[in-house]
Amino acid sequence: MKVYNTLSRKKEEFKPLEEGKVSMYVCGPTVYNLIHIGNARPMIVFDTVRRYMEHKGYTVNYVSNFTDVDDKIIKKANEEGTDASVISERYIAECKKDMEALNVKPATTHPKATCEIDGMIDMISTLIEKGHAYVAEDGTVYFKTRSFAEYGKLSHKNLDDLRSGERSLLVSGEDQKQDPLDFVLWKPKKEGEPFWTAPWCEGRPGWHIECSVMSKKYLGDEIDIHAGGEDLIFPHHENEIAQSEAANGKPFAKYWMHNGFLNIENKKMSKSLGNFFTVRDISEKYDLQVLRFFMLSAHYRSPLNFSAELMEAAKNGLDRIVTSVGNLNFLLESAQDGEMSSAEEQLLTEAKGFVDKFDASMDDDFNTADAISAIFELVKFANTHGDAGSSKAFLQALKEEIVMLSDICGLIVEKQPEILEEEIEALIQERQEARKAKNFARADEIREILTQKGIVLEDTREGVKWKRA
Ligand code: AMP
Ligand code: ZN
Repeated sequence: MKVYNTLSRKKEEFKPLEEGKVSMYVCGPTVYNLIHIGNARPMIVFDTVRRYMEHKGYTVNYVSNFTDVDDKIIKKANEEGTDASVISERYIAECKKDMEALNVKPATTHPKATCEIDGMIDMISTLIEKGHAYVAEDGTVYFKTRSFAEYGKLSHKNLDDLRSGERSLLVSGEDQKQDPLDFVLWKPKKEGEPFWTAPWCEGRPGWHIECSVMSKKYLGDEIDIHAGGEDLIFPHHENEIAQSEAANGKPFAKYWMHNGFLNIENKKMSKSLGNFFTVRDISEKYDLQVLRFFMLSAHYRSPLNFSAELMEAAKNGLDRIVTSVGNLNFLLESAQDGEMSSAEEQLLTEAKGFVDKFDASMDDDFNTADAISAIFELVKFANTHGDAGSSKAFLQALKEEIVMLSDICGLIVEKQPEILEEEIEALIQERQEARKAKNFARADEIREILTQKGIVLEDTREGVKWKRA
């Protein structure tokens, strides 16, 4: 498996630090609003990387943070006259709903910055002790960029080039820096802002330190993959490397992966241009599986242009796969049991060729565009060779292959049959018995199963009633 590493600017053979295991950290969103479709790109892309690695047999420890303290969150909290935590908790919950609808698996751990302040204070203290950070008069702690000789190795910038552009690095209120290239690790509190007690002053962390700390805590000093959108290469990821490597004295991430940007009709998405879409906006028009399919139809490192026509094309593409699986299920209902014919065995060997093509595409730096073409070829093959005369075993094998490859991409292509009234009644009966036997865990589980199938239960005096939500 080859992975493009931003650090070396080359595709490299993937060799994890520990055999059979992958540790992966993906920078998550700042939670002050519903996530937009640009934020959905890294979620979908790196979820697909994770799924493919799991398919290959790796155990993946996947960590993705929520930045829940930040200027934008504080601003929104002040506008609404509430606490920053109310805003961040609200949008974390909304983000998780969108992730579920996009079929993005929950991370192994979703840490929140505000719950990791102690770890940040520890790492900042270490950096001060080792001479990589200093405390300014007002209590701000800065990272001393020039103390880290390899600064710039990820973004391929050198310190002197950066110096010539240093005016842009001067941020108002940060005038006690020893060098314009230094960046904030901890800053003093301001009126109306959340703060924590630290040895230097009451205040809050700078943005970059949270990821160094959470990555270390949940994955260790050295990790396999660190990922995010390409806008994070500089300064965020460059600063994370400086902090982590200076504090831990070890290399940080082996592979740095970055997705390209999503643009709208070839323009940067922005509220002022009126071309800003949240994932929720798109869900009003499309099943979010279509958005997922659309994102994966391009290579993750390429820029991706969002337009109504391309979304329609994605919808048609996904429909082709769903229809094919639906047809196979229809044929399976009346297909004959019994052995596969030798001609069918021969055909299945041919079909395996498409699976190999899918794997080869994914092994080549997760080329999902080519991998999806391989699924289409398999679909065409199944449409051509699966018919009323085919054996059950043959149809089942074709269907399983299509569903398996789609599932690696996180695409749900098999429609679950609607739950029937008899099944509902049987589950309600079982729930009543479980309640009588004081097995409340099972009773709750049944309620949950039914909720997921869109059935709402109501316990009334006359007994249990149900309705479709
Ligand atoms: P943010 O909340 O801005 O920190 O972004 C969360 C993640 O979304 C980061 O990995 C960003 O790089 C990524 N991201 C933000 N905007 C876009 C975009 N238009 N296209 C692709 N990725 C984006
Ligand atoms: Zn980060």
